[in-house]
Amino acid sequence: MIEENLKEIQREMEAACKKSGRSLSDVRLIAVSKTKPAEMVLEAYRAGVRDFGENKVQEILEKAPALPQDIRWHMIGHLQKNKVRQVVGKVVLIHSVDSVSLAEQIEKEAAKQGCEADILLEVNVAEEETKFGFRTGEVEEAARQIAKLPHVHIQGLMTIAPFVENSEENRGVFQKLFDLSVDMKRKNIDNVNMNVLSMGMSGDFMTAIEEGATMIRVGTSIFGARTKMGE
Ligand SMILES: *Cc1c(COP(=O)(O)O)cnc(C)c1O
Repeated sequence: MIEENLKEIQREMEAACKKSGRSLSDVRLIAVSKTKPAEMVLEAYRAGVRDFGENKVQEILEKAPALPQDIRWHMIGHLQKNKVRQVVGKVVLIHSVDSVSLAEQIEKEAAKQGCEADILLEVNVAEEETKFGFRTGEVEEAARQIAKLPHVHIQGLMTIAPFVENSEENRGVFQKLFDLSVDMKRKNIDNVNMNVLSMGMSGDFMTAIEEGATMIRVGTSIFGARTKMGE
């Protein structure tokens, strides 16, 4: 079933790329395996997926040792400062940096471990009260602060769009994140790249691709629905 789902997603990714004149190789699928067992991760791996996203540090630590070592783990959920130590060096990208102080904690750990940490700034584009992330207007100042940290490298921006029935309702959100990344790129800040735009989930990844996503985070459409607890 997972293999079939992945094939369908691949077709949809191709269609969205074609529609927007983009190349499929510019969009990476992150399979969001939160709450799903390692066997299901392995099934997706056998179907060719190498990038997996989790929203809890504990789940990455539990699953990773039992799975192929060439899996690229992505931390996509809210990260508490006291969990930073466990995740630095174990993930290729932290998508969910939502404060300068969290970035400083990552710097401390990366320096201690002698590694580098690639991160994205999470932006609460829709300004939802319940969501984490910088407001659009805060991103530049935060990026300038974080850029000074020698072991932390901003690679782009991430957003979690609102839950909507019709993905068209999120097109404006994706456009805003894209525009922000273009603005930020023009500022040419040392140690700040804007090559990654992580946006789009099961319900709206085609729209996100049309608006410039370079990483889409898809869970339900690959692995099936989750129980409420894992949301
Ligand atoms: C769970 C989650 C996803 C995947 O959501 P689906 O709707 O299941 O595709 C994407 N991004 C983040 C940050 C998540 O927590």
